[in-house]
Amino acid sequence: MSTSFKFMGFRINSSKCLTICLGLTFVMGCYLAVLPIQSEKDALPKAMRPQISSKVPVKKRLAVLVPFRDRFEELLEFVPHMYNFLNKQRIPFDIFVIQQSDSFRFNRASLINVGFLLTEKNHDYIAMHDVDLLPLNDNLKYDYPAYGPIHISSPETHPKYHYNTFIGGILLIKREHFQLVKGMSNNYWGWGLEDDEFYVRIKDAGLSVSHPANITTGTENTFKHVHDKTYRRRDMRKCYNQREVTRRRDRKTGIHDVRYKIKGEHTLTINSLPLTVYSVELLCDRNATPWCQCPDPKKASSNTK
Ligand code: UDP
Ligand code: MN
Repeated sequence: MSTSFKFMGFRINSSKCLTICLGLTFVMGCYLAVLPIQSEKDALPKAMRPQISSKVPVKKRLAVLVPFRDRFEELLEFVPHMYNFLNKQRIPFDIFVIQQSDSFRFNRASLINVGFLLTEKNHDYIAMHDVDLLPLNDNLKYDYPAYGPIHISSPETHPKYHYNTFIGGILLIKREHFQLVKGMSNNYWGWGLEDDEFYVRIKDAGLSVSHPANITTGTENTFKHVHDKTYRRRDMRKCYNQREVTRRRDRKTGIHDVRYKIKGEHTLTINSLPLTVYSVELLCDRNATPWCQCPDPKKASSNTK
């Protein structure tokens, strides 16, 4: 049995109706199939579309690496100071304290090598940063050093060191350049010369070091150096053949052979500001660098009595 009804003056029965519906569905399907594919974004009027460009620069992230041992008071001042200073410049950064926790003499360069390796994943450049040197002049920009290392604490402005190849204190370098020079030498146990050796690595690699522009302050007012030389004594001892070896350029050691163990990783806050502390035990090859521990002069003289 078929029912029928009237539509726009035509009498239509149910089987005709089914045929018409199928026909219309087919025509609509064909029409939709030939339309170009549109994203939701394109469907919006042009003025309302989000402006996504492949050229939007993602800000580079800085790892502030602080080689450290027994400088807690300085750290308490350093962390709030650096947050305040770098936030003003809108630099994305994290602070890493690389604490030497073995009983060898302090090795600033090896600690920086370790800090570099530990921050490989999330950071584009590092600041090799003394804990006792606080930048005061806002024109000392900690921007990404795309074209070569930037020596923040230049010899013209450092409170203590003024020779023109000096690159100690605070140096910015991008990961690729640090890798290019194989990092720093691991031979420097005790105070001094590791930064001068690093300068030769940079020069040999054909990189040039630049300094912050527009600095009108001088050696007295560009940095605060929180360092009392009687309270924080520099370990200037030279033992075994340390003097001869460390005067020469080291073509062997660097990030690829720094020997260490991570003894702990802690997230601390100072005035609610976070930082990461890595406790690092450096290992010393006594055949290669016996001066990682100098003989105790008192013991040596009592043994001969
Ligand atoms: N440092 C440390 N403990 C030490 C020796 C050095 O933490 O026993 C670190 C600290 O970050 C310090 C940096 O190494 O700022 C450079 O050492 P120092 O200040 O003695 O050298 P300076 O540049 O004043 O001659
Ligand atoms: Mn110092």
